Amino acid sequence: MAKVLVVEDEPAIAESIAYFLRRDGFATTVATTLAAAEREIDKADLIILDLMLPDGSGFDLIGQVRRSAARAAIIVLSSRDSEADRVAALETGADDYVTKPFSPREIVARVRAVLRRAAPPSPSTAPAAPLPLIVDEATRRAHVNGQKVDLTRVEFDLLACMLAAPGGVFTRAQLIDRVWGDGFAITDRTIDSHVKGLRKKVVEAGGDADLIETVRGVGYRVADRPSSAEGGD
Ligand code: CA
Repeated sequence: MAKVLVVEDEPAIAESIAYFLRRDGFATTVATTLAAAEREIDKADLIILDLMLPDGSGFDLIGQVRRSAARAAIIVLSSRDSEADRVAALETGADDYVTKPFSPREIVARVRAVLRRAAPPSPSTAPAAPLPLIVDEATRRAHVNGQKVDLTRVEFDLLACMLAAPGGVFTRAQLIDRVWGDGFAITDRTIDSHVKGLRKKVVEAGGDADLIETVRGVGYRVADRPSSAEGGD
């Protein structure tokens, strides 16, 4: 049974979230202060975290969890509809965010989704070798061999598009259509330059250059398996 820690100083909100989580089978603890939360982080699989607490900022707790051995996933509750808050929360290490007002059902759905992503794949369903390139569309984070890589919006969208069908070839026209949409006058050279930038970042993060493969005369594809050890450049 997954253990969820709800860190929220408004009792009505905290109890409502806890009620729905318990009803759905999660072992749920409520902390109404940062100090109380700090004592519980080691036991939690997931933390639902309000950013504005009476004795400090939720951001401090995110940093503390990420610096510690605690493995808890974190979903931030933001009462301010502020993009800056959400971006800062994700940059600090939160896995997802929900903006108040929210429905408790939405929280439960997010908890399930985040725990699913965080769970190690079960041996029976795990692929023989995990893909070295991973994108998370919810947080817009990309990883190369487990290492975070900072991509531009276009680079991320190109990678996410191609990763939807690993091993499949995408023509430049298809990529333009999916990343920019209709009505944009994007030249093939522009695509090539974005893909070049993307590949450079993948290589800098320790990935192989041929993870993003040029299919001559057609377009591009991402490898559907980790490249072999001898496949250097
Ligand atoms: Ca609060």
